[in-house]
Amino acid sequence: MNLPERYYQKEIETMPPEKIRALQSEKLVRQVRRVYENVSYYRELMNRKGVRPEDIHGIEDLHKLPFLSKADLRDQYPYGLLATPLSECVRIHSTSGTTGRRVVAFYTQYDVDLWEDCCARALTAAGATKEDVCQVAYGYGLFTGGFGLNGGSHKVGCLTLPMSSGNTERQIQFMLDLNSTILCCTPSYAAYLGEYLKENGYRPEDNRLKAGIFGAEPWTEEMRRDIEKSLGIKAYDIYGLTESSGPGVAFECREQHGMHINEDHFLAEIIDPETGEVLPEGSKGELVFTSLDKEAFPLLRYRTRDICVLTREKCSCGRTFIRMSKPMGRSDDMLIIRGVNVFPSQIETVLLNKGYTPNYQILIDRVHNTDTLDINVELTPEQARNTPEEVAKMEGSLAGAIKTMLGISPKVHLLEPHSITRSEGKAVRVIDKRKLLD
Ligand code: ADP
Ligand code: ZN
Repeated sequence: MNLPERYYQKEIETMPPEKIRALQSEKLVRQVRRVYENVSYYRELMNRKGVRPEDIHGIEDLHKLPFLSKADLRDQYPYGLLATPLSECVRIHSTSGTTGRRVVAFYTQYDVDLWEDCCARALTAAGATKEDVCQVAYGYGLFTGGFGLNGGSHKVGCLTLPMSSGNTERQIQFMLDLNSTILCCTPSYAAYLGEYLKENGYRPEDNRLKAGIFGAEPWTEEMRRDIEKSLGIKAYDIYGLTESSGPGVAFECREQHGMHINEDHFLAEIIDPETGEVLPEGSKGELVFTSLDKEAFPLLRYRTRDICVLTREKCSCGRTFIRMSKPMGRSDDMLIIRGVNVFPSQIETVLLNKGYTPNYQILIDRVHNTDTLDINVELTPEQARNTPEEVAKMEGSLAGAIKTMLGISPKVHLLEPHSITRSEGKAVRVIDKRKLLD
């Protein structure tokens, strides 16, 4: 039986698209004026582009505004893009620094409130209610994951377990003793928790979990199936970035087919990452966000470097917000190996489809001016019982499958279980030694 859909803020989440557009237009005009008046850096960028706040009448004029990139944020670190007096701010968070120097973002109480609403929408879409026990195993601290989901969980009224990341033994103990029903963490950590439970003799039905909210790093559909099976749950994706508040910019509903973007707060565009040209709906390109409501750190046309596709196709959950596909990796995650474009997610797909673990690492180097690609993959305990000859055969067959997917040959090394360090936050999947040479 299909239960009726539940929403955290029904009226907004199911608003007719033309009403959303009108609301976005109204907010955009106001936000551009505010930012122009309060942030001298923006004023200069806009002046240089010859655009003034009066030229922005609604979202149809968005394309006139200049883009903002992570380089601008680094350049203006720490206070250059603040749009409110510092005395109005109540919180600072910072990016994880996955791709370079960290940037910081500021929040007023209003900003924190709206961000937590976004997380509450995500939790409700995953089935959370005040009857639930929500275990938050994202890191608490400068990273946005822990505090964001913690706030959302409070708003929904869940009994919140602020575990933070790590200390796996205690995570499991509390998960089982306190009957956690919702788990929030990175997908790589969820996979590890599943593995840990299995290795300690627990079956998926021994825990009370029903859903998980996993994000902050790319993960494939194969990884989703793996986690759903090992924990006995439904695994939902959640997307966000520190620059636009944190997790909850977009979230999955029961369809698990694209994440609804909280369009009342974030205006999304897809652009060609090379030319900056705005692309029509359905095109693959770089996601760009404009924060319509943020007070302290409102970014206009911020280039996320995440590559995805947007769709307005109707969703059976009743939400009208546009949906974004899983990011296919950041534009700067793409590896160019022997001239071929490779996304780590392609390799993950092959591994999991072939029955291997999500515990892998991709190593790239340059030897005698040629790129080398080595992939370390752990065997499952069952696979590890094979003879060395059988394992060598498996390595050959896996290398063949990856070559078919990528067009280039890797060297595959199948390793004993537990030889790759587990991640408690964002997993480090790629070690590109060429970067050290350049
Ligand atoms: P950093 O950019 O240093 O990693 P953040 O912690 O703010 O800092 O991470 C935001 C980035 O994490 C996003 O731009 C995106 O690349 C990635 N990300 C967040 N959620 C997801 C998700 N659900 N799927 C894929 N990537 C994600
Ligand atoms: Zn939906």
